Amino acid sequence: MQIPFHKPYITEAEIQEVVETLRSGWLTTGAKTKAFEQAFSDYIGLDHAVAVNSCTAALHLALETLGLQEGQGVLVPTMTFAATAEVVRYFKAIPILVDCTGDDFNMDIDDAQRKIESAQARGLEVPVIMAMHYGGQIGDVGGLLRLAKQYGARIIEDAAHCCPGKYRHRETDPWLSVGSFSDVSCYSFYANKCITTGEGGMACTNDARHAERMRIMALHGISRDAWKRFTADGSWYYEILAPGFKYNLSDIASAIGIHQVRKADFLHAERVRVAKTYGRLLADIEELDTPFERPNRIHSWHLYPIRLKLDRLRIDRAGFMTELKSRGIGASVHWLPLHMHPYYRETFGYKPEDFPVAAASYDSLVSLPIFPAMDEAQLSAISAAIHEIIAHNLKTTGLINV
Ligand SMILES: *Cc1c(COP(=O)(O)O)cnc(C)c1O
Repeated sequence: MQIPFHKPYITEAEIQEVVETLRSGWLTTGAKTKAFEQAFSDYIGLDHAVAVNSCTAALHLALETLGLQEGQGVLVPTMTFAATAEVVRYFKAIPILVDCTGDDFNMDIDDAQRKIESAQARGLEVPVIMAMHYGGQIGDVGGLLRLAKQYGARIIEDAAHCCPGKYRHRETDPWLSVGSFSDVSCYSFYANKCITTGEGGMACTNDARHAERMRIMALHGISRDAWKRFTADGSWYYEILAPGFKYNLSDIASAIGIHQVRKADFLHAERVRVAKTYGRLLADIEELDTPFERPNRIHSWHLYPIRLKLDRLRIDRAGFMTELKSRGIGASVHWLPLHMHPYYRETFGYKPEDFPVAAASYDSLVSLPIFPAMDEAQLSAISAAIHEIIAHNLKTTGLINV
């Protein structure tokens, strides 16, 4: 049985909407994108949603509207995808990497505090903290907000994995949607994310000024208000207010998004089902840890990362991945921490041991397939494969060595 790491959930509704869009004669940003933005902001529960062609673009726009300047510092988790840090470099600003916790792999707030203290001691301003919710589990929001307040920093949420994602301080509090903890939150609609448009992203905010700035910068710095102000039909006149970017989302992509966001709760329920099934099937294996859901969170289950207890096994993570692959199971690793990549090593002089928790986590993490409509047969096959691989590779101890 071949089981992919991910399979997007696309129905006839998405296909028909794309076909209709292609037939309509309007392919680029237009009415479908407007409708997708409206539907997404309603779903996430934030006032403004600016559709763009990737989450990376959204993160770039978020830093731009917060006014990040060359030479300033931005706290970025080392345990994240390339995008979270590269956008900081677009400004010639400095990503100040932070270690993760060993249980949910989100930013370690104590380490973040140490990093901000030492940056400030070196005279580096740190106006922004990038928070990323690993795999769809919301991190230590209380700690994050305290830190931002104490050091006068703004927060951007890299919520690429969170559609949906919710948090409440206590059980008796109302749920807060992801995006409620920051100035701007950024979502990804890349092919393997919770909802997809093939490629795409959204920048969300409750601040009308940030929304307006991001909207302008997403399309060449062109003011739309000028259209309205100076022309009767608003069709040809525009003014350039700043050297912007080309980040708009096409109506072809938004046609997919409109239907994906409609089924976001169903897609989430499917991921929850898969995660629960894994939890049940893998519970008896002492040689690995399965992911858990922190209290007072709604986890999106974008990822299902298990952690191997390598000290009990005769194979390493790479060997384990090879065994899965030979059984037709697609797995992945999230991620090689940023500080271990050549660019960050060479530019900032990082060593693996500078972020010991992230480095050790990297060695033992394996993301198992998780996607809507994964069936029981696929889940059983993966569980059987893992049981078998572990059983064949147990480290034998003491006198019963064979
Ligand atoms: C996928 C991802 C992104 C980038 O999303 P794109 O839409 O591909 O630009 C950013 N951050 C994280 C954590 C991601 O997983």
